[in-house]
Amino acid sequence: MSKILFINMFGNGHVNPTIGLVKELMNRGEQVTYIAGEEFREKIEKTGAKFKIHTSLSSSINGHSNSKNSKPPMEELKEMIEEIIEYIFNSIEKFDCIFYDSAFIIGSEVGRILKIPTICSITTFATNEKTNIFSSLFKQFGPIIQQIVNSPEYITLVENLQEKYDIKFPSIFTAVSGTGMINIVYTSKHFQLCGESFDESYKFIGPSISDRKEKLNFSLETNDKKKVIYISLGTVFNGSIEFYENCFNAFADMDAKIIMSVGKDTDINTFRNIPSNFIVRNYVPQLEVLKHTDVFITHGGMNSTNEGLYYDVPLILIPQSVDQPAVANRVSELAAGIVIEKDKVTPEILRQSVVKIFSDNNFRINSEKIGKSLREAGGYKKAVDEILNLKHCKYAIDEEVALDQTVVTK
Ligand code: UDP
Repeated sequence: MSKILFINMFGNGHVNPTIGLVKELMNRGEQVTYIAGEEFREKIEKTGAKFKIHTSLSSSINGHSNSKNSKPPMEELKEMIEEIIEYIFNSIEKFDCIFYDSAFIIGSEVGRILKIPTICSITTFATNEKTNIFSSLFKQFGPIIQQIVNSPEYITLVENLQEKYDIKFPSIFTAVSGTGMINIVYTSKHFQLCGESFDESYKFIGPSISDRKEKLNFSLETNDKKKVIYISLGTVFNGSIEFYENCFNAFADMDAKIIMSVGKDTDINTFRNIPSNFIVRNYVPQLEVLKHTDVFITHGGMNSTNEGLYYDVPLILIPQSVDQPAVANRVSELAAGIVIEKDKVTPEILRQSVVKIFSDNNFRINSEKIGKSLREAGGYKKAVDEILNLKHCKYAIDEEVALDQTVVTK
């Protein structure tokens, strides 16, 4: 048994894929302490892991607009990182291994200082000089990142951590790829952009599909074998009422059952005329819904996309931000779906796209090909095998070094 510290800073897209994996680590006798925001307490405690709270970011960084906390985002981010670091270095608990989300860009530094193995959790595509995913992202967000880097809070944070703990902050502009001794990526090598260009430290395990213990509270069985359309813009960029109204107009007359997840902050009462063939919820058990879905209209979040493809579902992708355009392009490249630019969404385009998917079986066939690669990638069990393997290798190396040192001293 060893003690593993897991660090996660942001939302569902970063936490969900880790849940099955953490549960499996616990089942195999490891002890996990998981640092995350309060909103994830229940999910994490259900795995058996010990939950350690950090003050999560309220809004602008997290994508929600109804913040109760009025602090500037950079100040919040600084406080959160300091809180996590204080915990790691001042805790009486000693950890044997650190497992961190790739957004926690100082994870490998923490491992170096504590002299423990590092594992990086990458919930989007892995990146290297070949994939080129983030160049357009940096074009879009470059000025904001520059503003962060130049902010007094960031400068103080970097200086304090260097002085107090010897942590060297990497440049945010280059800190997007895997920095762990192993890097867990929740897709298959086949779906990963330039999959063959990654070295052995990258473990493409496919989506971490596990029983989230979330039950459907509506029926998806249809006696008349109606097609099921599932619509979700994920958990962050889901505030567009106009988009949902477009969906109502597109599918009100279609002989199909439509499940629509509109996000926790959308007030369903604002929709005056929900067509009778729609079921609208703030959150649905997505994995359960996908098992019955014929087409998934998604924002192209990495998790949603992989989950849809895992269940062989063809996709209509409407990317909203960050990595979603790259994910959507990859699906389109492999002909498993159709991409619609978010500014061009109309009821007609939505309807035509669904009709196209239903009338051309190739979308389903191509989705099944990717789905197969995702199911065969091994999932959370494979990830845990790799983690335990790393741990054993590390101990073997440590023992060898210790032996060598004994020989030298003799
Ligand atoms: N999700 C869910 N039910 C919902 C909406 C989302 O279970 O009603 C889950 C989904 O299965 C996925 C995650 O939330 O695991 C969303 O992650 P993704 O990367 O797709 O998008 P993000 O929310 O980070 O934009």
